[in-house]
Parts: sequence; C-alpha cells; structure tokens
Amino acid sequence: MPTQQQSGPVSGSGSPRQVAVVGAGMVGLATAWFLQEAGVEVTVYERDHVAAGASWGNAGWLTPALTAPLPEPAVLRYGLRAVASPRSPVYVPLRADGTLLRFLGSFLAHSTARRWRRGMAAYVPLNERALEAFDVLAAGGVPARTHPARPFLACFRRERDAAPLLAELAEIRAAGQGVDCSVVPGSRARALEPALTEEVGAAVQVEGQRYLHPPEYLAALAQAVRVRGGELVEGTGVQELRDEPRGVTVVTGDGERQRHDAVVVATGAHLGRLAGRFGVRQPVQAGRGYSFSVPVAQRPRGPLYFPAQRVACTPLGDRLRVAGMMEFRRPGEPLDPRRIAAVAAAVRPFLRGVDLDDRRDEWVGSRPCTPDGLPLVGATTSPRVFVAGGHGMWGIALGPATGRLLAQAVLEGETPPELAPLDPLR
Ligand SMILES: Cc1cc2nc3c(=O)[nH]c(=O)nc-3n(C[C@H](O)[C@H](O)[C@H](O)COP(=O)(O)OP(=O)(O)OC[C@H]3O[C@@H](n4cnc5c(N)ncnc54)[C@H](O)[C@@H]3O)c2cc1C
Repeated sequence: MPTQQQSGPVSGSGSPRQVAVVGAGMVGLATAWFLQEAGVEVTVYERDHVAAGASWGNAGWLTPALTAPLPEPAVLRYGLRAVASPRSPVYVPLRADGTLLRFLGSFLAHSTARRWRRGMAAYVPLNERALEAFDVLAAGGVPARTHPARPFLACFRRERDAAPLLAELAEIRAAGQGVDCSVVPGSRARALEPALTEEVGAAVQVEGQRYLHPPEYLAALAQAVRVRGGELVEGTGVQELRDEPRGVTVVTGDGERQRHDAVVVATGAHLGRLAGRFGVRQPVQAGRGYSFSVPVAQRPRGPLYFPAQRVACTPLGDRLRVAGMMEFRRPGEPLDPRRIAAVAAAVRPFLRGVDLDDRRDEWVGSRPCTPDGLPLVGATTSPRVFVAGGHGMWGIALGPATGRLLAQAVLEGETPPELAPLDPLR
C-alpha cells in the first residue's frame, strides 16, 4: 500500500497522485522512488524484469568528472578509421538502415567543439547533483551502497597518450565543473593498483568519483520502491498510451487497461516507440556495449579505465567486470562473441592476476543514445506524459538526479531550469 497517500480516484487536473512509470531500469526506478518521496502512488510496468536493459551489465561508474556529451570532435577523427571492423571499439554495420543513417548523420553534425560545449553546459548542473542524489536514496533507506573510487585511474601506455583525456577534462573544467585530477607515472599507478602491468606507462588519477554494483543496486532500488508501496508489474510490456481528459490509459501487451494520472516513459533504447506519439522526434539509437566478469587475484580498489582501448573495468564483488564497445545496431540483435573477444584482447596487455579467459556473465546491452548526446527528460505534447531517458553512456550516474528533477516537474507541472536543455520536444 502507498505509504503517504491512499489511492484515490484518478484526477484529471492538479498534482498527479497516481503515476505509472514504464521501464524498470535505473532511470525509471529512480523516478518512481522520488515520486514516492513526494507521496505519489506509483506503478512500474516492466516488460521483462528489473534491470533487464542497459542497467544490468554496465560498468557502474558514478564519475561526474567524465560525464559529458558523446558526440565530440574526436568522433569525427575516429570515424575516418575502420568502424566497420568487429574488432574496432566503435562499430557500425556496413548495411546500416535508413533510421541508423539519419541518426549517424545527425550525431556527426553534433560532433563539433561548439556543440559539445553547449551540450556540456547542460550536463554541468546534472553532474553537480549526481552524487548527492545517491546520498538522498541512501538516507531514504535504499539498502545498497555506492563505493568511493580510491583511486579512479585512467591508464595509458605513454604519458603523451593521456593528452586527449586531459584536454577533455580541461574543457569540462572550463564549462564550470570541478575536476580534480593529476598525472601519475606508471610506477605510481602500479603501486596504487598492483593489477596493472608494466605496459601502463602513465595514468590520470581522478579524485572524488564513485562506483556501484549495478545488479545489486538495481535490485535494492526496486525493493525500496516496493517497500514504500509501489507496485512493480514485471513481465508486462506497455503497448500503447492513450491520453484522455481524465488521465492516461496504459494498454499492456495482453490487452489490460489501467488509467493513471500521469505516465513517465523510461524505456531506455526503446523510448521512441511510446514517446513518438507525444511529439518526441529525437531518435534514440541503441549504442550497444558488451561486458563480462573475470576472476582477479587482487581486487582493484577502484575502476580502471583504458581510454585508448575504450574499455572500462570495475571491481564487482570478488570479480572484475570488463566492459566496452559501442555498436550501433538494433537492440534485440544477438550478442556477437567477436566483440567480447575484442574487449578481452584490448585489455590483456595491461592487467595481471586477471584470468580473461575465465569469463562469466557475458552480456550485451543498449545504451540509449541521442544524436546530440543529451538526455530527453521532461513533459511532452501531453502535460500528462513525460519521458526520462536517452542518457547514453551515463544513465547510471545520472539516473537518480534525473528522477529527482523529473519528479519535481511531474508534481509541479513546471520544468526545473536544470531540465530546460533536455526538453524532449527539442
Ligand atoms: C557496456 C556499458 C557500460 C556502461 N557503463 C556505464 C557507467 O559506468 N556509468 C553510467 O552512468 N552508465 C553506464 N552505461 C550506460 C547505462 O547503462 C545506461 O545509460 C542506463 O542503464 C540507461 O538506463 P535506463 O533506465 O534509461 O534504460 P534501461 O536500463 O535500458 O531500462 C529500460 C527498461 O525498459 C524496459 N522496457 C522497454 N520497453 C518497454 C515497454 N514497452 N514496456 C515496459 N517495459 C519496457 C526494458 O525491459 C528495460 O528494463 C553503460 C552502458 C553499457 C552498455
């Protein structure tokens, strides 16, 4: 049962009291939790199970220092290299369909320094609120921890290879965001993390970042939503949303109908399917990434990042999760084992005491990517239908801050200034 307000008749006006959230990933669950915080009764519809999408196998980094728009000038330079090779960390199939070509065209058009800066300015207020939102969840009883990254290391063969990352961090700082980092020699990096080999000649150490265990965190967040009286309807896909004068009717795949005062669409890489009818024109393209876990002799104390190889490693329990790749393909296509092998091969020279052949939990999942690299968060052409998604590489770090701000928008009917650049109708 709802903790603070009883379920009443669905009201056609005023602050919504009963809200449906579609999608039980980080963004949907965090939004549900923050709506409950304000006394709203929530129903979360999930077509599969909690964290069935990108929110399961990701790297779990809560690294606002690195959280920036994906389309950047380096993409243009990189795009000239062999993106059609399955071993390339960015992969575009040779026979891209029209939707993907339109997405890529727009993505490339946004990969300029000027647009990146504009996008970054939109990220700064979200990044500044990212970690605090996790603290609010913890203080509110979500029984899962976030871990300080002591240290967070971005590792390179040579010090000069760190130049692009240092330039990006300088730009992030220039956008007004605090970034505390220093370059350390390979010997110091190995002293901090004995799992690194002699191949690491230098590292950038970034302070003040955190990480979490995605499956555990999502399970705990879902449980917290249930404990506070939320209904989590798993195995129930939403087929259609009907906007009516007295509310929004959710029509599920098996034909059930349920009316709610308002609906938040948080369906990750599938956002466009339900949101398109409500004026959301920005495409959300699956940027598929892969991960697996391997045993480690000595658990690293924080995440390890290999920017040149585009691979992220995170200590999860007694194993190391290794994640990478950006594959622009349809979300439902099967896992391609060649990409898993390519990720393992890319980090093999840099890690010791790690058995990259004893892989478990091989996974592929879809980052919800937008062409301008900005999330889509806010009201649509209907004042009762909201969307929350499109966070690309950063939906775990930004999910709670997003949910907190969106809950405010749903309840007050006004867009908080932090969400203005993320207008889903842009
Ligand atoms: C390899 C990899 C590494 C990553 N590392 C990080 C990281 O370190 N830090 C970070 O911040 N981010 C990271 N990300 C990105 C992050 O995982 C995503 O941005 C985030 O999980 C998106 O969350 P979401 O809730 O929007 O979508 P999802 O987690 O995909 O959730 C959407 C949910 O909606 C459900 N759904 C879809 N359609 C319907 C429907 N019609 N009806 C009902 N339910 C529906 C799906 O089943 C799914 O459960 C990574 C991603 C990948 C792939």
